[in-house]
Amino acid sequence: MRAMLLRHPWSAAGGAFTPLELDNVPVPAPADGEVLVRVSACAVCRTDLDVAEGRVVAPRYPVIPGHQVIGRVAGVGRAASGRREGDRIGIAWIHSACGVCRWCTRGEENLCPYFESTGCDANGGYAEYVTARADFTYPIPDLLSDFEAAPLLCAGAIGWRSLALTQMHDGDALGLTGFGASGHLVLQLAQKRFPRSAIYVFARSPSERAFALELGARWAGDTADAPPEALAAIIDTTPAWKPVVDSLAHLMPGGRLVVNAIRKSRSDQAELQRLDYATHLWMEREIKSVANVTRADVQDLLAFAAESGLRPTVETIPLEQANAALTALRSAGGIHGATVLRFDLNSGTL
Ligand SMILES: [Zn+2]
Ligand SMILES: [Zn+2]
Repeated sequence: MRAMLLRHPWSAAGGAFTPLELDNVPVPAPADGEVLVRVSACAVCRTDLDVAEGRVVAPRYPVIPGHQVIGRVAGVGRAASGRREGDRIGIAWIHSACGVCRWCTRGEENLCPYFESTGCDANGGYAEYVTARADFTYPIPDLLSDFEAAPLLCAGAIGWRSLALTQMHDGDALGLTGFGASGHLVLQLAQKRFPRSAIYVFARSPSERAFALELGARWAGDTADAPPEALAAIIDTTPAWKPVVDSLAHLMPGGRLVVNAIRKSRSDQAELQRLDYATHLWMEREIKSVANVTRADVQDLLAFAAESGLRPTVETIPLEQANAALTALRSAGGIHGATVLRFDLNSGTL
């Protein structure tokens, strides 16, 4: 099968960014409890870039990235119940969790110490086939196309979890810092869940700000600009620290900022020196990170998307061009919505 392999984290300075290499590798066999999936779409996430650049380290290389996978079941391992050949399913970032620890037993399997991720701990969907545990796959509602459903599996599901963690109510003002694949989905999700809430978007690039206004944001400004009202909640989807410090100043008393990033950039960490307790944290302002997703997050978001009409804005490119998609994420500002890898159904053999 064709696969985009990450042989080792990218370390070269300058030149073209080509961390992934197209190669032919054997089709994996499903182990007990697993299904083999013929991939039809795999959305690209900023975390794939974190893996490619080594901010998130895989236990072994080469590894196949990709954790927003849509495909059809092409093989069923022993004791893999609930899935049949031909079923259209999704695979998300949560590859597995232990099921018995303190966190798993209280519905927080996203925090499990034995949490394993798709596309990092286990091979992911930048390939024609992938295996997954049957009980960590999701039926895809008929109303969603493969390309629409793929970005919902991470950007959508983690947006869903982030919104829940803000503890905001309908009518509360929400700020979004960053407006990439994740941010644009969070905006639409928030509009549907909290129709009376005004949404304010902070983004560096003018084209992202224009896109935010087009999608119905009440206001869009630079990260250093002040929004017209204080914010009850903020969701940060940037890799940087500056928007975190800047936006905290606009949080109202008791407000909460949720950071949706698996790793933050070290390049502007000095911005944290500007953190002023009285301005940014006093009056019970809070900062909370959002880590991974649970299966319930993914299921709930897929059902909500199907019934509410939530659809991501998607651009598709062939599997072989995954490096170009990661390069675009790296430079930021040039992407409107989510990028999804597509697969030529005629190539690839079992
Ligand atoms: Zn992701
Ligand atoms: Zn656990």
